[in-house]
Amino acid sequence: MFLDVSRNQQEKLEETGITLMLDALSKFTLTHLNSGVFLQEKIRSIAKQNEIIVGFDILRRETKDGESQYRVVAALDDKNINELEEDVAVRSYYDLVRVEAPHFKMETHADGRHQMVAYPILDNNRNIAGIIALDVSMARQDEIFAANIQKAYIMLFGVVILIGALLVRQAKVIDYAVLYKRLKEVDQMKDDFVGMAAHELRTPLTIIRGYTDILAGSKRLTKTDRQMTTNIEASSEHLNQMIGDILDVSRLQQGRLSFKMKSVQPKDVIHGIVESLKYTANKKGLELLYEAGETPAIKVDVDRLKQVLINIIGNAVKYTPEGSVTVTSYIEDIEKEMCVIRVSDTGIGISAEDKEKLFSRFYRVRSKETEEIRGTGLGLWITKEIVTQMQGKISVESIKGKGTDFVLSFPIFKDKGSQESAGK
Ligand code: ADP
Repeated sequence: MFLDVSRNQQEKLEETGITLMLDALSKFTLTHLNSGVFLQEKIRSIAKQNEIIVGFDILRRETKDGESQYRVVAALDDKNINELEEDVAVRSYYDLVRVEAPHFKMETHADGRHQMVAYPILDNNRNIAGIIALDVSMARQDEIFAANIQKAYIMLFGVVILIGALLVRQAKVIDYAVLYKRLKEVDQMKDDFVGMAAHELRTPLTIIRGYTDILAGSKRLTKTDRQMTTNIEASSEHLNQMIGDILDVSRLQQGRLSFKMKSVQPKDVIHGIVESLKYTANKKGLELLYEAGETPAIKVDVDRLKQVLINIIGNAVKYTPEGSVTVTSYIEDIEKEMCVIRVSDTGIGISAEDKEKLFSRFYRVRSKETEEIRGTGLGLWITKEIVTQMQGKISVESIKGKGTDFVLSFPIFKDKGSQESAGK
């Protein structure tokens, strides 16, 4: 289409050029219509400079018996000179050439297209005294056009292939999108199912734990009975914890875990949790310490903070075979306005590789040291979610075989009244 437009434009320009040339020539020709030799020379020199002119006749109009005749006074082809145009069709065509209107006619010959021009030579009364007949070959222009058309087709072909490739890709993307949606639905179904199943498991477990409590209180138990009851109690407690974790995951995923954020004095909370875990730590021969630095009030949900601390300090005790677990709290950086709770242990440590996946769901480090230790791999994921939702941060520093530090930080509570009591 573009090439066609440009070709038409080109032809129009050529027509304008020819018209201008013939306009000047016709005026000049009028005075020399009777000197054929002179005109002949002119024609030759013009044709020489313009290779595309393949025919060039100047005809004088004569009248015989009231009819127009056209006699060739000069021509590119010598043998035409002095010929009388006999062809009726040509004559009537020349008759049609009106005063200011040169005639352009595109003809297709054996060697290609030809632009046939008939231009009037007007006398002083603006009557037609003669005709300039030009035959301009369009062969070269058509050649260029054909070459350009070929290029255009090649490019078009390329573009079509490209669009095809893009469409195929697009189709794949759509496929992936459908697949992704489906996966999300299945994932949602799985989460719903797990949440529901965990909830349903709680009821019978509560009953088992209740009866085990009654059983443990009985005075008629033998030593073996008591041992078995203790085992049931430990396993039910573990099961209860697992169900609790699964329910928390489900709530967090569905955004159903609510937070009652208020100013909390972390010292008291940390102290309480450390005390409650001391028994387990000491039973393992571990020292569990809390060293409080300047610790201002923070804005958190106190129950969720307890849950986080139980998990992190509990893990430290769980994954430390000997040595100590030390909890410290302090202001990290006044400008950052964060309060830090650091839990350091001298336990088994975590490798750099494991550290990266530590906060993923169900991730547990599989090693000789951990194979005897029970767990779900959900605690750290839950902890991170809770800490993040309370605008806090959690990170881990560890050297395998030496120990681990879990670092929690929470925004300091900014209310003036509560800050006065902070850290005192
Ligand atoms: P789990 O129920 O297995 O304890 P968590 O999500 O709490 O699940 O912890 C994930 C894993 O991170 C644990 O299985 C353990 O391998 C590792 N881990 C957590 N805390 C510590 C720690 N203080 N020292 C060494 N490893 C730890």
